[in-house]
Amino acid sequence: MVYDQYETVIGLEIHVQLSTKSKAFCGDDARFGGAPNTQISPISLGHPGTLPRLNKQQINHAVCLGLALGSSINQHTTFDRKNYFYADLPKGYQITQDGAPICIGGQLNIEVDGKMKTVRIHHVHMEEDAGKSIHEASLPYSQIDLNRAGVPLLEIVSEPDLRSAEEVDAYMSAMRQLVRYLGISDGNMEEGSMRCDCNVSVRPKGSTILGERCEIKNLNSMRYARRAIAYEVKRQIDLIEAGGKVIQQTLNFDPETGITAPLRDKEDAHDYRYFPEPDLPPVHLSDGEIKAIHANMPALPWILKAQLMEEYGLPAYDATLLTDEQETALYFLELAKEIASYKAISNLLINKILPYCNDRQILVADFPIKSRQIGEFIALIDQNKVSNSAAYQRLFPAMLEAPAKAPAKLAQELNLIQTSDEGLLEKIIDEIIANNPEAVARYQKGKKGLIGFFMGEVMKASRGKADPKVTNTLLRKKLSQQ
Ligand code: ADP
Ligand code: MG
Repeated sequence: MVYDQYETVIGLEIHVQLSTKSKAFCGDDARFGGAPNTQISPISLGHPGTLPRLNKQQINHAVCLGLALGSSINQHTTFDRKNYFYADLPKGYQITQDGAPICIGGQLNIEVDGKMKTVRIHHVHMEEDAGKSIHEASLPYSQIDLNRAGVPLLEIVSEPDLRSAEEVDAYMSAMRQLVRYLGISDGNMEEGSMRCDCNVSVRPKGSTILGERCEIKNLNSMRYARRAIAYEVKRQIDLIEAGGKVIQQTLNFDPETGITAPLRDKEDAHDYRYFPEPDLPPVHLSDGEIKAIHANMPALPWILKAQLMEEYGLPAYDATLLTDEQETALYFLELAKEIASYKAISNLLINKILPYCNDRQILVADFPIKSRQIGEFIALIDQNKVSNSAAYQRLFPAMLEAPAKAPAKLAQELNLIQTSDEGLLEKIIDEIIANNPEAVARYQKGKKGLIGFFMGEVMKASRGKADPKVTNTLLRKKLSQQ
């Protein structure tokens, strides 16, 4: 297959909408979802004579992300104007950072098929969002909603280190997880809080020279990104194989047709006429300010994952699931303060608590059963008072019905308490041995598999409440004594 002879090379420009109260350069409400054109002002509308003002929170958020990515923070960072004409950009230019972005370099580790990989970050810069054009087929004109105009963004530009759609997916997910942990964005792709431009090129396998790239603009779902990349890689390889050349272009992906098509090519590429923003002073960040932001950063996802594995002895699989969302990891740590069986907490979280909360769209912190009852539930299993299956299948659902009730009491009411009372078990076993002389004889002649038969009889006689471990030991002892 000719496609196997090529390597895909991808670099990403991710736009993250920051969850600040107000916009980047004025006090307008920056929240998502208001009625069209209700979160605007003369500044975001670009009226003559208005002046932008810095939003300190945007700078803090940018530094916070840079520190998490291991970037070097530019202590003298400046803003620039990027000029272009479009109806959703009332000022006629976007305030962005071209010459001196706030974060330089850095990296993010991703995991694909069990293998770790480092994706290098080129830089992170601050900018503002444009408004939104709405094209309704039934109307002979377009509509504009300027609520989004001026919402603060961070653009995270990667080096061309990604090699497949799977790696793009893992990188986007890791970045989404990180900005959510840091509390700087909700990372919600459906609402446009996270979008990416995908730069794609191909080259013969083994080559170290980059191929000519195309940039697919504004992908706002991972599914679209995967389809767009697959289509674009095939298009470029087919073109090269047919003797053609890839030309650098900006492309649009149409989810309806699954096709990428040029928005513009290099010939008529925009000249953005970048120049320093005269209305905003340079930002100077002192060592002390950077240190203070660092001191307030929450634990990062990969640190928590390592902690769950090393300190709490959880397998990588569990640690990955439990640290997917920060609040789950914190909930685990809360429970682990009171309950010593860490793996049992993890099992319960993964198999019962998380699915329950996901189904109902509630936070784990709002899970109705409190840690004390959860601790007692786990203790009942650990002490062999209730079998694992009875606990999960019968006791736990009952606890959800009556969250405040003591699990031991519920287990008793449901008749689930196992018997490890040796006296009682011995009596049952003696009877079974007396009633099954043939099986006993065969067992003693070497058919050790019959232990299963005896176990089954004891379980039947005790109506499932015999403690399997104690029963097994007692049975073996008695059978060999006969
Ligand atoms: P520009 O400033 O013109 O947008 P950059 O060179 O800064 O372009 O790169 C933008 C993005 O494109 C970066 O994420 C970078 O990694 C990626 N990129 C650059 N060259 C290639 C290439 N040949 N193939 C794939 N991605 C590339
Ligand atoms: Mg670009």
